[in-house]
Amino acid sequence: MAAKKSLNNSMEIRVGLGYDVHQLTEGRDLWLGGVLIPHEKGALGHSDADVLLHAICDALLGAAAMRDIGFHFPDTDETYRGADSKLLLRRTCELITAKGWSIVNIDSTLCLQRPKIKPHVEEMTRLISDICGVEPDRISIKATTGEHMGFVGREEGVNAFAVALIRRD
Ligand code: MG
Repeated sequence: MAAKKSLNNSMEIRVGLGYDVHQLTEGRDLWLGGVLIPHEKGALGHSDADVLLHAICDALLGAAAMRDIGFHFPDTDETYRGADSKLLLRRTCELITAKGWSIVNIDSTLCLQRPKIKPHVEEMTRLISDICGVEPDRISIKATTGEHMGFVGREEGVNAFAVALIRRD
């Protein structure tokens, strides 16, 4: 009843979807959810190639109908070569906040065969919630393997999906 009343009082809510994929290759660091994960392969990309943070940025931008990460932080721009994706997420949050939006929650799924990311989920959640300025219980990070099938299962790549709900009062 309370939620319905708020909606009638012109609160807007929007949902956004984000997806990203990067190749895994030797000689690169593996950054996931803002955390450097010890592994023999890393993600290939113009920035630090943090697939989870990129998916989250796109979900937030998508919810606000503000284009995508490539539009705001082009991979042709030398500014973003090797960029820390935590800064991209921070900038993304600033972009949506400037339009009056606040984050209700973010849910995400990271898909990679190896290594196990369970030991890192708590730190990822803390980092993302700090950057987004929301309580950790509004940030969900799930993980799955590729069950040894497809490019994820063959450890050729990593991908991530995210949805974000945002509100404007
Ligand atoms: Mg990316």
